[in-house]
Amino acid sequence: MARILIVEDNALNIKLFCDLLAAHGHEPEAVTDSRNALEAARSFVPDLVITDIQLPHVSGLDLIELIRADEKLAEVPIMAVTAYSARGDEERIRGAGAQAYVSKPISVARFVQEVDALLAGKHEPAVQA
Ligand code: MN
Repeated sequence: MARILIVEDNALNIKLFCDLLAAHGHEPEAVTDSRNALEAARSFVPDLVITDIQLPHVSGLDLIELIRADEKLAEVPIMAVTAYSARGDEERIRGAGAQAYVSKPISVARFVQEVDALLAGKHEPAVQA
C-alpha cells in the first residue's frame, strides 16, 4: 500500500486514477487546485506524486520544480501525465524533476507499470509506447 497524491483538474481523470490505484491496494488522495498541491503534499507525505501537466494557476512543470525544491519532498518520485506530447516535452518534464511520463489518454497497463516501477525505486522508466 502506497500513499499517492494526484494533482489533476479533470474530474473523470481523478476518478479513473483513484479507482485504478485503489484497485491495486493503494491509498490515493486527489487535489484539483494546483495552488493547494504543495501544501497538500507536505501534509499528506506521499510515496508518489502523479501530476497533470496542463493545470490552471500553477502548471505541472512549475509544481514539479516546487516539489523538487522542497526539503521535505525532494526525494518523492513524480510521474507526469499529459494530454499533449509535443517534441521536447518529455525532456522538459524530466528536466524539471519527474522520473516518469505517461501520455493521455492513458494506457491502463502502462500507467500501472510506471506506478509500480516508481514505488519499487526503479526510476529508469519504460520506453514510451
Ligand atoms: Mn488538466
